[in-house]
Amino acid sequence: MKLLIPGGAGYVGSHMAKYAQNQGHDVVVMDDFSTGHEWAVRDYEVLRVNLLDQEMLARSLKGRQFDGVIHFAAKSLVSESVKKPDLYYRNNVVGTLNLVHELLRNDINDLVFSSTAAIFGNPVTNSIAEEHSKLPINPYGQSKLMAENILRDICSAYSFNATCLRYFNAAGADQSETIGEAHEPETHLIPNILKSVLPDGNKLKVFGTDYDTYDGTCVRDYVHVTDLAQAHLLALEHMNNNSGFSAYNLGNGKGFSVADVIKACEKVTGTCIQFAVEGRRTGDPAVLVADSQLAFNQLGWRPQYDSLDAIVRSAWRWHQRGSR
Ligand code: UDP
Repeated sequence: MKLLIPGGAGYVGSHMAKYAQNQGHDVVVMDDFSTGHEWAVRDYEVLRVNLLDQEMLARSLKGRQFDGVIHFAAKSLVSESVKKPDLYYRNNVVGTLNLVHELLRNDINDLVFSSTAAIFGNPVTNSIAEEHSKLPINPYGQSKLMAENILRDICSAYSFNATCLRYFNAAGADQSETIGEAHEPETHLIPNILKSVLPDGNKLKVFGTDYDTYDGTCVRDYVHVTDLAQAHLLALEHMNNNSGFSAYNLGNGKGFSVADVIKACEKVTGTCIQFAVEGRRTGDPAVLVADSQLAFNQLGWRPQYDSLDAIVRSAWRWHQRGSR
């Protein structure tokens, strides 16, 4: 397949591009490099486009054909979204609308959309299935839910197919060790823990030990980024025989607290990890764990990294190489 990957220079997007190319597909990355990395996309044709620049977007897609589009281009930090909601609504909602507009004009009709567990807000069940209530508690989650709803309406109105994949906590790095998680600033737990034990690393901060969980720290479902990539290709294949809108939750179905993750990182790195306890971070729900039965049953998704240890080991190999 010939695939367009907006946001392909970012963390999940670059793993998607690599996985798709390894599976024999032809990849074109589109990115504005606001948070993505040039070093992550050396092996592909790159279109340097910001989705908010409709003219440039139209010019870059004119006359091109793709069998599928896998759309990652977005802002994705909960805490930043609380401080700058307008930035999130513009990038994630308007950006997606602009992209869909051009896809429709060019008769490109299959889209996989990078969504998030943040659309659900505070869980009312132990694990979250697709039909769980959707009441986001931060602008990031709101913006992704708005984009999902727009896609649902576009699929009803036109001959267009969209699959939304709601990731829980993407983690780990590609086994080639050439790409991995590298945000600036880094806000995610596993990279922050691993970087804290490297020379010049900052001391880890733990945000909140007074949550209503078994040890007081937040519980999350960590899923390997290459396993997420697998699900996107399966979703595109599934769309060949299943038209319209669909959505799947992607996680391992197991929750680990911040304290559990620190212990797993201690085991993998062989060090005792020092940390400071800070107040809660705004917008963080206490527990987020996926029920991914639908993706297993309908997409045939089979995550390969089934343990937190394996996920952390892959991330550690990447960070030791000095993440670019
Ligand atoms: N967290 C933390 N210290 C950090 C980064 C994250 O204590 O340096 C906590 C955060 O408050 C949340 C969990 O780790 O409870 C996972 O956060 P992350 O940013 O990795 O993912 P999110 O769940 O926000 O998408």
